[in-house]
Amino acid sequence: MTARTTDVTASFAFSASHHDGTARLGRFTTPHGVVETPAFMPVATHGTIKGLSMHEVSAAGGQMMLSNAYHLYLRPGDMMVRALGGLHAFTRWPGPMLTDSGGFQVFSLAKLRTVQEHGVEFRSHLDGSLHQYTPESVMRIERNLGADVIMQLDELIAGGAEIEASRSAMERSLRWLERCRLEFDRIERDGRESAPEFTVSPGAPPLDTFDAVLDLVPPTQALFPIVQGGTHAELRRASLRGILDTGDWVGVAVGGLSVGESKPDMYAMLEVCEPLLPREKPRYLMGVGFPDDLVEGMRRGIDLFDCVVPTRMGRHGTAFTPDGTVQVRQSRFRTDRRPLVEGCGCPGCTHYDRAYLRHLFVSEEMLGLRLLALHNVTFLLDVTRAGREHLRAGTFTSWSTEWLARYRAKGKRIVESDDE
Ligand SMILES: [Zn+2]
Repeated sequence: MTARTTDVTASFAFSASHHDGTARLGRFTTPHGVVETPAFMPVATHGTIKGLSMHEVSAAGGQMMLSNAYHLYLRPGDMMVRALGGLHAFTRWPGPMLTDSGGFQVFSLAKLRTVQEHGVEFRSHLDGSLHQYTPESVMRIERNLGADVIMQLDELIAGGAEIEASRSAMERSLRWLERCRLEFDRIERDGRESAPEFTVSPGAPPLDTFDAVLDLVPPTQALFPIVQGGTHAELRRASLRGILDTGDWVGVAVGGLSVGESKPDMYAMLEVCEPLLPREKPRYLMGVGFPDDLVEGMRRGIDLFDCVVPTRMGRHGTAFTPDGTVQVRQSRFRTDRRPLVEGCGCPGCTHYDRAYLRHLFVSEEMLGLRLLALHNVTFLLDVTRAGREHLRAGTFTSWSTEWLARYRAKGKRIVESDDE
């Protein structure tokens, strides 16, 4: 096949139109559409946002979806996803998508993990089979999956780690970034390797010659580097300098936060990174977070967020509200005819009352888990939407201050009053 000369920067763009302090209102253009930022990306770990359909998440205001290379590599396999048309076609999500490398899952889920300079060897948490994750193999996996934004492989360590362990992981992540970039560019230049012949369904015709050639063309993607350095300001600065010295990236991610360090430490690291992050590129804070983290992140110039918390907490009966989190199983909801959150547009709040939602959880009915997961995802999407509206109106600082005061003051009281 002939090498392509695609200019990746022509397919991606970012511009900020309004600022309030370091917060900004922006537009992130990707090959599958535009994301208005700040934005929360719901997490479709296994190619699905747990319990919810893509239609529901889209109707709730979801713009960009996140999926996970580790899980999809293990099952159904990145080559299988590619044979089924790529992640967009497979999951029926037509909009912008991002895949995490799965480094976090390798470090947190996989068994018998050995980390060396070459990469990570691990046993699958599913069946114990042995696998190798290298910067190069991760690029091949994410190229096969085909999300718009793909993440580098980085080395992760626990929050609050000592400076020497943090420095070593940060420096290795920079070396792995360079190897990711070289492999990303090589695939762009040489095309993808041929996929094995899958019998996708019995009797289905094989790819015709034209499709088989097209299949070798890598999708138009952007590789994001990840700022590491734990909770050490000097390491965060060194990581960012290293990243900016080695490439003209489409966007930059801040990783290794919300992994056990305190919230003030996390916010402090964002303040260290903010002045060094390029103004004209989107900034993605990985794995964060809770509603207040989103507001604090927006205040510190973050454009993209993701977190599994809304669906996970929803499945356990915990709901986000403007007054903090609330447990729907509590007995004071037994006869409460009010909606869970007044003014929330989700199906759980517009069609049902607290008494019914409580009943669904107490009875362990599936609908309860789904409604609460959708409510929590809607809540985070609404928080970022409100952030955008107030940035546009020039009222972001006062809104965010009041929002945080209400969330923290009353939230504490509600949580303490939980009786189950
Ligand atoms: Zn709701």
